[in-house]
Amino acid sequence: MKKITLILLTCSIFIFYSCTNSHSSNPASVEDDGVPVYFTSDISPNGVMKVFEYVKEHIKGDKIGIKVHFGEDGNEYFVPATMVEPLANALKATLVETNTAYNGRRTKTDTHIKLAHDHGFNFAPIDILDSGGTIELPINGGKHFKTALLGKNLENYSTIIYFTHFKGHGSSGFGGCIKNASMGMATPLGKRLMHNKDFPKCKPENCISCGICQKDCPTDAISIEPLEINLNKCIGCGKCISSCPKGAIVRPENEEQKLIFLEKLVEYAKPAIENVNSVYFNIIMNVSPSCDCSSKPKEPFVSDIGILASTDIVAIEAAAHDLVDQAHQCNDAFLKVNSVSGKHQIIYAEQMGMGSRKYKLIDIDKK
Ligand code: SF4
Ligand code: SF4
Repeated sequence: MKKITLILLTCSIFIFYSCTNSHSSNPASVEDDGVPVYFTSDISPNGVMKVFEYVKEHIKGDKIGIKVHFGEDGNEYFVPATMVEPLANALKATLVETNTAYNGRRTKTDTHIKLAHDHGFNFAPIDILDSGGTIELPINGGKHFKTALLGKNLENYSTIIYFTHFKGHGSSGFGGCIKNASMGMATPLGKRLMHNKDFPKCKPENCISCGICQKDCPTDAISIEPLEINLNKCIGCGKCISSCPKGAIVRPENEEQKLIFLEKLVEYAKPAIENVNSVYFNIIMNVSPSCDCSSKPKEPFVSDIGILASTDIVAIEAAAHDLVDQAHQCNDAFLKVNSVSGKHQIIYAEQMGMGSRKYKLIDIDKK
């Protein structure tokens, strides 16, 4: 079958680099002999099924979990339930998630499932993976962690499909499949261990006392007038960084600490994808600077782009990031909108042996 590759032109990459205030390097390379990443611009349930055709041979066994995000109360940008419904039905799959580290409806299994149903995820069984306890898996080559604390029910699955919304995140720059396989598969304690010491910094001179950050903070850690964060309550989730419209709460200046958080994310994802056969989707729609965990996310900053599927978690992240950068005409869109680059996730994941940044983007719409 003839394959038509979508080639990112050198001149386009030059345009990315002309963007001001960007200083991180492009972590990916687009190569003819790279790992296939399949793309469709058809953002619909039909588009999901079309691109799935190209990766379906990698599905193993008959116990399939689809890792989704059910969306926080108030968030309208998470990938709608209708997008995953035909795939879940076709595979007789279970929708899987884990409970959050912060208080809310997604903290406890019963209310988490109720929220999922309220958001339309009522066409397949739901398994909150940590409802069965914790499984502690070794992290081969980890320098921050030796083991990861993941939802125990993960061990019941023959394949996990990471059905991921590719968007921003206040602490990790962007959230894609790596974050979905790390923070998304960890127990609440595992989540806290990743966020440990990742506290934001206040810039009171920018604060207009609008109170948005207080409403979005899951641990009631923020007080305003004067603007302060109670570090005994803060879990470092980064929601306030994304939600503040005035840049009055920012990532800490400590570059090393930023990189450590990204590396912790990657390390937690490694055993999740090594111990269970995995396939990856990045849905590039509603690309808000904010995470799906935000109840008041910022508006998307680029138009919807499409759906990617691959069997390589590093390649799909690199491809998705490049597409968003291309749409934003910038070499690091998430650095621009969140003041933190997440690209080190991609670089470190390749260093950890989780995949390849060298990808080949295959536009299935042109076949
Ligand atoms: S990072 Fe911000 S939103 Fe998250 S717990 Fe700390 S103060 Fe609250
Ligand atoms: S969201 Fe930003 S501007 Fe509004 S109260 Fe919080 S820190 Fe101040």
